[in-house]
Amino acid sequence: MRIASWSWGGRLHVGVASLASNKGADDHFELTPLAVADPSLGALPLIQALARGEALPSATGARLPIDAVTLVAPLPRPLRSLFCVGRNYRAHAAELATTIFSTSAPAHDEWPIVFGKLPECVVGPRDVVRLPGAAVSSQIDYESELAVVIGRGGRNISRSRAMDHVFGYTIVNDVTARDVQQRHQQWDLGKSFDTFCPMGPWIVTADEMDGRATRVRGWVTPKGGTPELRQDGWTKDMIFDIPTLIETCSRGITLHPGDVIATGTPAGVGMGLQPPRWLGPGDVVRVEIDGIGWIENRFEPIEHSGHAG
Ligand code: MG
Repeated sequence: MRIASWSWGGRLHVGVASLASNKGADDHFELTPLAVADPSLGALPLIQALARGEALPSATGARLPIDAVTLVAPLPRPLRSLFCVGRNYRAHAAELATTIFSTSAPAHDEWPIVFGKLPECVVGPRDVVRLPGAAVSSQIDYESELAVVIGRGGRNISRSRAMDHVFGYTIVNDVTARDVQQRHQQWDLGKSFDTFCPMGPWIVTADEMDGRATRVRGWVTPKGGTPELRQDGWTKDMIFDIPTLIETCSRGITLHPGDVIATGTPAGVGMGLQPPRWLGPGDVVRVEIDGIGWIENRFEPIEHSGHAG
């Protein structure tokens, strides 16, 4: 099941995305709204209800073609900060060995790096990401990532039971201000700028895919240019696998239904290139994960923002 959240007819909706044909491309998907009390929370109340053992709400309203709606993030305002994992693919650790990871422990470290990304920075799968201006940061970078959505909550979840707590998977771009990330001992500030967490296009439930063995790719289309495949990795190559990440994040901390763990990014980020290449106005980043779909976001200066955010 794919659980999506969208805007249509001046209202927000939550429901199920299903293939209208067997062509596999997401423009052939249709959306069926479900009877949920507060669609502004996206899939969150639904995940909470299912975790309590309740049934899926009934359908309400007609199916719509996906082209007719504006998708929003499946969790437009997560319960709390996203748990994010740093340096979780060896090739990515190597490409940033002299920068981000120069002061942290070596890659064969026993414990993952975990930082937080504020829930307010989540935006939709096709939304514009706002460049903050050179006075704030001139080193904006992308990170294509698989995100795990927790279903049943728990504390001190063992590795062997961890997959029972996975509700499903979605895509995030862990957009990062590299200069700000490096300036502070903790990464949260440089990871949490407004709009810096595009998410979507929906959550695919864990019965339909195995996040432990899927392909993660990221393309950058420079303004006026053609798409460049920058990242191409497999989640089976993670240093700390999904069960280990759940075990780690739940040590002494109760995980709740709807919590999100962004699992880290493969090699090929802009900072890892020689010389580094930062995102600029008009650039587009697309992140695609097999079994889920894709998100695609254009980067534009914050001065041109049409809304206060
Ligand atoms: Mg990341």
